[in-house]
Amino acid sequence: MKRKKLFWACIVLFSVYCVYLTAAVYENDFWGNILSPLLAFGAFGIVFLTSLELDWKQNRGRKCAWIFFSLSCLVWALADLTWVMYVAVFAEDPMESFFALNMYNFTNIFLFIGTGILCVRLLKRWNFIQLKIDTVSTAMAIGYLIWIVFLDKRTDFPEIVASVGWLGALSIFIDIMLLTLIFTTYFSVRKGKVAVYIMVMMFGIIIYAISDLIYFHFILADIYIPNSLVDAVSMLAFMLLAAGACKKRCMDKPTMGLEDYADVTSNVGLKKNFYLIVLVPIVAVAVEGLVLFDLFVFALIFAIREALSFYIQLAIKNEQLLLKEKEMNSILEDKIKERTKEIVQKNDELEYSSNHDPVTDLYNRNFIMKSLPQSVRNLKPNETVTFILLDIDRFKTINDMYGHDVGDQVLVELTNRLQSVDSDFEFIEKPILARVGGDEFAFVYRSFMAYDYAEKIANKILLRGSEPIAINQYLFRITASIGISIYPYDARDVKSLMRNSDIALNHAKVRGKNRCLSFNSELRDSIYRKNEIEILLKTMDYNEELEMFYQPQFRIYDKKLIGAEALIRWYSKSLGYISPAEFIPIAEEINIIPELGNWILNTVIHQIKEWNTIYGIDFKVGINISPKQLDYISFVNDLKQTMSESNVPPRLVDIEITESIAMEGEDRIKQVYSLFKGLGVSISMDDFGTGYSALSNLKYLPFEKIKIAKELIDAIAMDEYDMQIVKSIIELAKSLGILTIAEGVEYQEQFDILEKLGCDEIQGYLLGRPMAVDKFEEQFLK
Ligand code: C2E
Ligand code: CA
Repeated sequence: MKRKKLFWACIVLFSVYCVYLTAAVYENDFWGNILSPLLAFGAFGIVFLTSLELDWKQNRGRKCAWIFFSLSCLVWALADLTWVMYVAVFAEDPMESFFALNMYNFTNIFLFIGTGILCVRLLKRWNFIQLKIDTVSTAMAIGYLIWIVFLDKRTDFPEIVASVGWLGALSIFIDIMLLTLIFTTYFSVRKGKVAVYIMVMMFGIIIYAISDLIYFHFILADIYIPNSLVDAVSMLAFMLLAAGACKKRCMDKPTMGLEDYADVTSNVGLKKNFYLIVLVPIVAVAVEGLVLFDLFVFALIFAIREALSFYIQLAIKNEQLLLKEKEMNSILEDKIKERTKEIVQKNDELEYSSNHDPVTDLYNRNFIMKSLPQSVRNLKPNETVTFILLDIDRFKTINDMYGHDVGDQVLVELTNRLQSVDSDFEFIEKPILARVGGDEFAFVYRSFMAYDYAEKIANKILLRGSEPIAINQYLFRITASIGISIYPYDARDVKSLMRNSDIALNHAKVRGKNRCLSFNSELRDSIYRKNEIEILLKTMDYNEELEMFYQPQFRIYDKKLIGAEALIRWYSKSLGYISPAEFIPIAEEINIIPELGNWILNTVIHQIKEWNTIYGIDFKVGINISPKQLDYISFVNDLKQTMSESNVPPRLVDIEITESIAMEGEDRIKQVYSLFKGLGVSISMDDFGTGYSALSNLKYLPFEKIKIAKELIDAIAMDEYDMQIVKSIIELAKSLGILTIAEGVEYQEQFDILEKLGCDEIQGYLLGRPMAVDKFEEQFLK
């Protein structure tokens, strides 16, 4: 049925009810008998149709309740029809018929079941003990009220049953229970508003119960008149049921049912109960007048109820507090768990970043420093720890020229390659791979390993690393040097293990880079020797052990002696002859160059003075200067002072500075130039052509003479390419007005070629070896 139709059906029903009410007021039996069943049927129709609308799956309880309410209307209608049948067809007094009279009692039963379903669903959510007390106290109060109002305090119960029948007695009991149920429920609902349709229906049921009780009151008093006002009041109950159904169906929004308000699990407080406490005695006083005993009974019921409630509420509150506490504890526990998880996670992250390199994601030096001692400690008797240290050759150039971004990408790409190396050596344990410095990587193997095997791995690493790396539009071919040391052969502890790898690495670099070197006995010996030289250099008496040798230099075209190069010689008391190529770098390293350099300057300049005085010649001598010497501010002053003290004109002094200084950049060259500017000495570039500076750089270099390195001269007779290089050096120097001198000329062939190429001067074993002063004098000056 559509809502609109239902609404109009309801209006019609109420209009008919008004007619029926009028008939009841005038106690008109005819209209009463016709309209009463009609109205009951109408109410049944509306309520039943509403029950059909409810979805069985979602609202099983509510649907049942509605069906029982509709049945109560139907039973009433059928009872009315039976009544009419007795009056009209059998012409008997229905009041005398058990059947006609007692059919009405089934209405009570169905109503009670419907209400029960609605209320119990709600009530069972609440604290059971409190509910029992509420129900019992409400039932007692209502029951007592009904007993005094409707049963006139009759004490002879068998007589009541006899006059109303046992079904009638049951109906009275049901009425009391209905009222109790509704009041208990209503007074227990404490949150939200009860939907209007429910209020209407409950009100209808209350009216029914009261009218029914009035009916029994009349029966007991023997003053009941059929189709009188009391019946109209009963009928009003069905009208209200129909109105409730109509209201529910006509509501646009779905609203809450009674049970939706029951979000509280215990009916704590029952504030509305107060109304009942006040209401029941007032009704009693209003109907029966002031009877102190009755008031006392009501007071007693409520006093007991309140006392019991007090303790129960206390228990409920405690229980709730406990629950709340438990809930809070569990929330707290969850929070702590969460926090702990966070801290653990943070710690893990921190631990990770403290042990890993952010660029390559490999382990870092910190991790190696921590883990290596452990690896060494847990070593089994036959095992070794092999530390392979790799350093990329000239990585700084990549960073300087292409920027750090590209440099980082190269490192990442190289890392990928390094990681794949160990797949070629499946039978050994996977190594720890770490980035231990800017361009330094370390492989740590823990298993048994001999030098040759470690070197095999290292060579594989070098091979993989040297494959071209493409980053953006650039293609890099990087090489690396590797140092290997093995615990326990090469070191007794982790520190020396790492240090020895580093030493081996440095030696690999010195020996020309792009190679690997093990820290073996040879290296150990060389280190030992280096240490010895270091100590001797620091402690020796220069005048006793050092001597200057001189190697003659000649003009090519007439083979005339034009000067000499001073070369230091050291005859150590304990180690014998030590080459300057060996000890000068050590002297540089241990910072004794200023003393040593000054000694050389003094000796050579005094020699120049002596020779020029004795032999009356203009003889120029070249002095080798270590680039480190130039860093000392006092150097130029010392040179100046020594020259002026010995009265040696600066033009007789040639300062030889190695080509490598050009590698240090333009600023460095300018600095050197400004150092000697105005001093009057000439400057030669030593060892030119060993690969550092480009030929075109020559024009920027303020040198007077370049010394073409022995390495180039060695090959000019055999190698056309080297000859061409020497040729272009000479030509370029000539065009710039710079003199050229060839170093290390040993054969006539070399001499001839150099002469042909237009080289200016010559120095070498062919025309004279470096020699002691007296020998030099003997051979060349006398
Ligand atoms: P250098 O400046 O290149 O010196 C030339 C080296 O070539 C000398 O070796 C010399 O003996 C050697 N030499 C000359 N002609 C020939 C030749 O025909 N055949 C061969 N095989 N060798 C030849 P030396 O004296 O052993 O010096 C080595 C290096 O030590 C020098 O290389 C120089 O860099 C350094 N040095 C020598 N004396 C001094 C010095 O007084 N002060 C400084 N700072 N360094 C020095
Ligand atoms: Ca030299």
